[in-house]
Amino acid sequence: MKNYNFLSTTLLFILLFLTLIINGCEKDYCEKDEQQCSNEKFFAYRGEKKLTATIINYLRIRNDSVKFTDKFVELYGYPVWEKAVDIYKEDANLLFVPIYHKKKEEIETIWSFRISENILHYTPLCRDKVPDEQTWAFDYLTQIVLNRRPQSGIIFRIDSGVTTRQGWFWRRKCVQYWAGGDVEPKPYEWKQHCWWLFDGGHGGYPDPDDDVMVGHGNIPIPPGDFDPSLDTEIQKLFKGKCNLNHEDIKKLNKAYEEMRQECFYEYIDNYLKKNNVRLGNISKGNTFGQASIDEKGNLRFYDSGEIIAENLKHEWIHLFQRQYHHMTSFGNKAGMMEFELALAQDILFFVEIQGNWLEHAHSWAAWSMEYEKYQKEYMNWLKEMTADGRHYPTAIDNIRFNFFSSVFGEVSISYNRSRGYVYGNNAYTSSAIQTLFKQAKKHCNK
Ligand SMILES: [Zn+2]
Repeated sequence: MKNYNFLSTTLLFILLFLTLIINGCEKDYCEKDEQQCSNEKFFAYRGEKKLTATIINYLRIRNDSVKFTDKFVELYGYPVWEKAVDIYKEDANLLFVPIYHKKKEEIETIWSFRISENILHYTPLCRDKVPDEQTWAFDYLTQIVLNRRPQSGIIFRIDSGVTTRQGWFWRRKCVQYWAGGDVEPKPYEWKQHCWWLFDGGHGGYPDPDDDVMVGHGNIPIPPGDFDPSLDTEIQKLFKGKCNLNHEDIKKLNKAYEEMRQECFYEYIDNYLKKNNVRLGNISKGNTFGQASIDEKGNLRFYDSGEIIAENLKHEWIHLFQRQYHHMTSFGNKAGMMEFELALAQDILFFVEIQGNWLEHAHSWAAWSMEYEKYQKEYMNWLKEMTADGRHYPTAIDNIRFNFFSSVFGEVSISYNRSRGYVYGNNAYTSSAIQTLFKQAKKHCNK
């Protein structure tokens, strides 16, 4: 016992001594080369985004020849790379990096990057120089980086990563905000600001040599450096060839990421992987409708414009139905399965808006202008099975499922009875989505 104590005391001293040596070295290193230390701090990035890491790499190289970091820190502050907002817009990658200055109460500068046609353009944007309708971005980053309510009084709804509402709020990288004081707003009272519409201020692309502004310039980058590869999570499902060009791959990665941000679809995606679903090729063209997955599991998009999350969501529910029923083709069940899918999406939306359907425009599956006589009945059914939009259904009545499938066959434009879809048959029930909701309920806490 005694020996043991002696041993731990000795160990403690050794550890203390080692800590002193290590700290001492670190301090020495900084005193010797202050420049190197401040550079390290400037470019420090602990995240995993390839876009951010690559941009930092180019800036480092630029800084080796044209030192700008010290002046930048003095004027604007330090970049907070981890909190950068990245978006993909038309054919450019954009990155907005908040700049923190210790003497300023709020984020006053956003470093804006744009990569298009093999050139990296970058420029600092200052709050007092941007148009009024864009100052929200500084307020938003103030809340994100400094965890502080901006002076403007705006509150932003920060995504906690847990709530199922995430997908709805984050479509097109938008942020929900409220400028109405301290009273907590109702869900439909939140308004949106979208990064998609934020102007990066790269209009003129001045020559990098007449670099009048610090932290501003253009860097040519070799082709291939930003070549995207298919998201590794998509590769787990699709084992065939991906015949998409770079721009389309980026779109697909974004669409897939956006889909997975919605808990319900994340559940489906996990389910497919857990069940070792193996799909084929990914390509464009040669398809009926916006997107499709054929019997062999080949995913096709009609054109680039159709590579969007909404289309993936549709196909992912079909993949669940197929896996659940062990089928490859739908045959004469196609109509019923399309209605089942539309009903599932109506239920999801109804729960998302917590039953306040009068506040939201939405094309519900089982009624349209001429068929409003079914509206009340259908909405009551949704209300009933979701307990006023409070949670996913635990059961779906198959008699009404069957009845509304017939209505859907009359009112649906894409899946109309006249196009050969069969409805109202008892052979197909809503068992697939009933199971799906039951399982996703736990995963999504709904
Ligand atoms: Zn379909």
